Amino acid sequence: MTGLLVSDVDSTFLTQEVIELVAEHAGVRDQVEEITTAAMRGELDFSQSLRARVALLEGLDESVLAAVRGVLVPTPGALDLVRAAKAAGWVTALVSGGFHEVIDELAAEAGIDHVRANRFEIVDGRFTGRVHGPIIDGVAKREALEEFAARHGVPRERTVAMGDGANDREMLVAAGTGIAFRAKPALREVADVIVDGESLWDAWPHLEAAAERGAPVR
Ligand SMILES: [Mg+2]
Repeated sequence: MTGLLVSDVDSTFLTQEVIELVAEHAGVRDQVEEITTAAMRGELDFSQSLRARVALLEGLDESVLAAVRGVLVPTPGALDLVRAAKAAGWVTALVSGGFHEVIDELAAEAGIDHVRANRFEIVDGRFTGRVHGPIIDGVAKREALEEFAARHGVPRERTVAMGDGANDREMLVAAGTGIAFRAKPALREVADVIVDGESLWDAWPHLEAAAERGAPVR
């Protein structure tokens, strides 16, 4: 494989934050934003804040997921970037602190090879307010990148990770090329490349540069 492109989803591959979209449809956006703010102040770590936000969704009908899937807006250039990467023989992946139930369909339509994200626990068509399975945090994102690279025989120098938040720090450091997209300061300081324009297509020259590195794996 030519290389591995791994992208964060919330505010990177998508213009939106998935959990906030679900909360808005559930009518609990204000409460969710309070928790987000507390997390930003450092009062909660990512897992705690995710669990607290999902707890607010208890009792919600799962039909909300289809509604949210219908309003997703990819970042300008995101679909073109994936298309070009695939045409050039890259493996593509989304790794997300968001949710499979929301992003899998779009990922499949875009031809993305792998998705690693959280799952809502849903019983009898309703949200239980709990996360199903392990929480995908910064460490899990890095592990996903390493796992996909190993599975496809892609050497580190031909791995590219893109993200915007503190949660993407570990995977940007682990990747051969770490791209900070319109990113928070904590991420910018570890990035190899900073993209501040509107479009993810600006990342393409850095994939082409990464593809030149390292001996081809057979
Ligand atoms: Mg993000």
